[in-house]
Amino acid sequence: MSADTALMPIPGTVDPVPVSRAAVPRADGRTELVGLSKDQIRAALADAGLEPRQAKLRAKQIWHWIYNRGAGDFTRMTDIAKVQHPWLTERFVITRPEVVEAQVSVDGTRKWLLRTHDGHDYEMVFIPDADRGTLCVSSQIGCTLNCTFCHTGTMKLVRNLDPAEIVGQVMLARDALGEWPSQPEGRMLTNIVMMGMGEPLYNFDNVRDALKIVMDGDGLGLSKRRITLSTSGVVPMMARAGAEIGVNLAVSLHAVTKEVRDEIVPINRKYGIEQLLQACADYPGANNARRITFEYVMLKDKNDSDADARELVRLIRHYRLPAKVNLIPFNPWGGAGYECSTPERIRSFSNIVFEGGISAPVRTPRGRDIDAACGQLKTAAERKRKPAVLNDSA
Ligand code: SAH
Ligand code: SF4
Repeated sequence: MSADTALMPIPGTVDPVPVSRAAVPRADGRTELVGLSKDQIRAALADAGLEPRQAKLRAKQIWHWIYNRGAGDFTRMTDIAKVQHPWLTERFVITRPEVVEAQVSVDGTRKWLLRTHDGHDYEMVFIPDADRGTLCVSSQIGCTLNCTFCHTGTMKLVRNLDPAEIVGQVMLARDALGEWPSQPEGRMLTNIVMMGMGEPLYNFDNVRDALKIVMDGDGLGLSKRRITLSTSGVVPMMARAGAEIGVNLAVSLHAVTKEVRDEIVPINRKYGIEQLLQACADYPGANNARRITFEYVMLKDKNDSDADARELVRLIRHYRLPAKVNLIPFNPWGGAGYECSTPERIRSFSNIVFEGGISAPVRTPRGRDIDAACGQLKTAAERKRKPAVLNDSA
């Protein structure tokens, strides 16, 4: 068994579930610098033999080149002596995820099929709008949860993405949009949502470390107000998400009764609606200026009645939540056992929530023609690996 398929327990629908390990080291033995904090870069340089003061200075310079200028190799780093470039190149790399395929929707939405260095595929999506652009970032390859309306939920979890692979998505989007050097004004990529493949709070450390890099003012410089993390309701991690990451919170609620939510969002069997909404009420940093978004997928005859809408209002009021509701028309995928609610039903639902004093816009589906819309992301679960040369114990 190669290292990345060795099983380890992590929390899942039934805790714990066995999932694949994190990324394997690079085959060439070099160290990836993307995804390391400034201090980790300094330590890596010191371990490789630079004296402490040099390591500190070089780390600062390299950080700037990677995250401010978008450098992909050391030869561009003009403030580092040329003689040191080969020394760095032998030991370190600055990479992006490999692009297997890039597609553009008729509505301008773009989807990339990406591949990790150990051969697993995952996706990211960019959604341009008139005055902003949102990158939808994946946190895992596959998902341990099995929400019944979500295509990613039909994949098994292949593995967690590491910080390099999460930050790498943002870097790649910046490359594609030609947005180097980093500057606060006039960007197309203005917002990030952790709403691609996977459950970000089941890959907490890597998501936190990656977002810290994305938010660093000396680098990519995206404000925490422009980043939203979506969770299906991993209650025990929500307080830490608020305290240690501090981005906007979105919660995939999708149903207001135990019976329906147990069925369509199975994590509800472990952490019920009351617990989830209490965790929302306690979420650090939520207030009227920074509301919690409740995502609600509109499934015909499942969760879309007027009574459901009224119960949603009651729950939000009961927990005194600074909330807005995003109504998401169900995006179909082959084999899904659901239909989208009718436009009249969605309008009626939205009106009831709105009259309850809560904003409830209906999201326009984007990128459906290239399967880039919410819940449509899925890649081949596992790719054939090359014969493992290091695997002589087998
Ligand atoms: N795992 C996280 C984040 C990724 S999913 C979560 O579940 O919150 C991003 C959003 O798309 C979630 O609200 C998810 O429930 C929703 N979604 C999944 N499948 C969908 C589909 N087929 N149509 C519409 N929305 C869907
Ligand atoms: Fe996983 Fe989110 Fe899809 Fe549920 S909706 S299966 S948590 S990616």
